[in-house]
Amino acid sequence: MKKSIFAGALLGAALTVSPAFAADSASGLPEVDTSVEPCTNFYQYACSAWNKAHPIPSDQSRWGSFAVLSQSNQEILRAALEKVMAEPRPGNQRLADFYGACMDDKTADDKGWAPIKPTLDKVEALHDLKALAKLLADLHSQGINAYFAFGSQTDFEDARKDIAAVQQAGLGLPNRDFYVRDSEKDESRRKEYVAHITRMFQLIGDSAEAAQTKAETVMRIETGLAKASLTLAELNDPQLTNHKKPVAELSNLLGDFDWAAYFAGVDAPQVKSLNIAEPDFLKAVQTSFAAESVDDIKVYLAWHVLHARAPWLSKAFVDENFAFYGKVLTGAQELKPRWKRCVALTDDSLGEDLGRYYVEASFGPEHKKRMLEMVKELKAAYDSDIDTLAWMSPATRKKAHEKLAAIIDKIGYPDHWRDYSKVVVKADDLVGDIERATRFESERDVHKIGKPHDKAEWGMTPPTVNAYYDPTENDINFPAGILQPPFFTMTADDAVNFGAIGMVIGHEMTHGFDDQGRQYDKNGNLKDWWTKEDAKKFEERAACVVDQYGSYTAIDDLKQNGKATLGENLADNGGIRIALAALKKRLAGKPDQKIGGFTAEQRFFLGFAQVWCTNTRDDAIRTQAMSDVHSLPEFRVNGTVSNSEEFAKAFACKADAPMVRGAKACRVW
Ligand SMILES: [Zn+2]
Repeated sequence: MKKSIFAGALLGAALTVSPAFAADSASGLPEVDTSVEPCTNFYQYACSAWNKAHPIPSDQSRWGSFAVLSQSNQEILRAALEKVMAEPRPGNQRLADFYGACMDDKTADDKGWAPIKPTLDKVEALHDLKALAKLLADLHSQGINAYFAFGSQTDFEDARKDIAAVQQAGLGLPNRDFYVRDSEKDESRRKEYVAHITRMFQLIGDSAEAAQTKAETVMRIETGLAKASLTLAELNDPQLTNHKKPVAELSNLLGDFDWAAYFAGVDAPQVKSLNIAEPDFLKAVQTSFAAESVDDIKVYLAWHVLHARAPWLSKAFVDENFAFYGKVLTGAQELKPRWKRCVALTDDSLGEDLGRYYVEASFGPEHKKRMLEMVKELKAAYDSDIDTLAWMSPATRKKAHEKLAAIIDKIGYPDHWRDYSKVVVKADDLVGDIERATRFESERDVHKIGKPHDKAEWGMTPPTVNAYYDPTENDINFPAGILQPPFFTMTADDAVNFGAIGMVIGHEMTHGFDDQGRQYDKNGNLKDWWTKEDAKKFEERAACVVDQYGSYTAIDDLKQNGKATLGENLADNGGIRIALAALKKRLAGKPDQKIGGFTAEQRFFLGFAQVWCTNTRDDAIRTQAMSDVHSLPEFRVNGTVSNSEEFAKAFACKADAPMVRGAKACRVW
């Protein structure tokens, strides 16, 4: 699983905010809140002024620097798309038609739910389990992942090639905890979910009573699947999803299913073996098939068709979808304007077509050059850091150096743009366009099976405000979208940039050595390179971080999940240490010049903290704490700095200050 710096789009409630952020001075420094001591609550000190000045817009569930940048990137894309529509040329007709079809809400309203009628008819025509395989293959190819998901993945044993994989899927709520967690709030969310499904069925003509029965059926089937699903924390351990088996094993686990028809339906190549990521989950699908009538299976499938396309049908469906996924799960008050939803959809569907325009507008050779310099310096700092780890034996240390040296960086955008010429886009057929674009991606993915793994491919589009480490490629990836203020400010001094984008670089590198990444070798194979004793010492040190973050309360009765967020917290703690070391090296021998009253090290920590300044709605906090491997912004800042002796020194904190963990401080890297 790729590890990113941020969760990105949360349930379609993508990030966005006011362009007021751009008003922050060229120094890149935030305005601090002098009523709070930095050693008492550094997040408040660095962020409360920003947070006060940036209330959450009504169409958002959170508003932070990430979101502001993301919105400004969206505006660049919107301008590009409007230009493409005004001056259609042979090379950009596809984009113009796609975005045009999406913006045409009048046609969407006129069509009602007619665009999904053919797919619902296919579901309705299902008469026995034998025919389910072909139907499910068709739905999966359209991106409707009922029951399970199928596609390619890098081979755990040999990262040079891609193999087939089956994975758990099929839930309408974010993950298993939403079905099984026991609290009043969880219970009320489940009730709202059932009510939402009921209203969706009513929208396609069911009576209130019939729709209610159907919603309960969906809830029953999904709860069964949820209970058999791995948890968020378990999904971080690649060993728990590593089960390469002969294809015949599929029939042992899920026998009531025509696998041959399924593979033919998704156009998969012949394979002898595949990774059955969660075998117990497939057993649960078998149990569900045996327990449910064909009519009830049809209800479940129809719900997933409705759910997948609701945001792009007529207003009644769009509003109902927002009422649950926007309001209930994230607290957003109002639907985003259509252009924002359509820019995001175009980025999702034809991302590398659209991405070129973003790169042209926002990313130059100077960006790339400065990033390359920083990556080189961060890598050197990491290399020295490994030698300071007293707990690690020379044997493991040597391997760690080798793995670090092998990390590849990808910066900005792909060398080769994806060719979408096979995707048929029609100016008056939005849902058809989405379906065809999704089929193109699904086929592209399935056709990778059995082929050499392509490391040049990107897992994020160029305008994305995010970054990731891929353990199977051992590479760090920085889309052009994040190489902008406040992460990367061309006019800001080194201290601020090292605290912001420098920390992001260090964060991604540390993922190569977190609880998940450390299990892969320098070639991206899942292969243990640790001595037993060193692995044990790693576990002990990591447990300190699990306890630390697990003690933070997200909201009400809900704590931060220390285990699920471990990899990200290790990356934050390692990242800040490495970035500061690299900064010190760059500034060595130069006088420490104060800017805005702050020393270089103080500016470094402020540059780090301001990246995380965020206002978040309560419902979004709850959803994030249950479904996201990233800690909440406040803990990302305070959790990290309170482990840092250098932070305490930089701000002259007393030993008993809340931001000083002292002897309790955790350190792995
Ligand atoms: Zn990360």
